[in-house]
Amino acid sequence: MKKYLTIDAKFKCNASPKVDFTCLESVNKKVKYNGKIVLTDSVRLIGRGKCEPLTLAAQGTPIPCCCSLQGWLSTDNVAKICGKFLLIESSRNFCTATPVPVPITVKQSGTNGKFFHGD
Ligand SMILES: [Zn+2]
Repeated sequence: MKKYLTIDAKFKCNASPKVDFTCLESVNKKVKYNGKIVLTDSVRLIGRGKCEPLTLAAQGTPIPCCCSLQGWLSTDNVAKICGKFLLIESSRNFCTATPVPVPITVKQSGTNGKFFHGD
């Protein structure tokens, strides 16, 4: 059973571990689950965390976290929307805004604990 993500999903960037990031889905405008848009691997993360590695490198001057995504791993490689793979709970990415890429992982699916089956 795969746990798909919706527009209410929360992500964590290890460069700013205390902050939850939400996202913008740029391709899927129609396919919903429980009334919420399902996420594809075309999402962009939105957040205003403090990038700890960059802040450290700038001798403590706070640098906002603006995640730069490398590419999603562990997506659902079967289901597609508009040619894009769907994100699931185990999907992960790397933030390349930092001197050394750090992991970005899913904190919450955004489906209120209710999941739907992909297979
Ligand atoms: Zn980041």
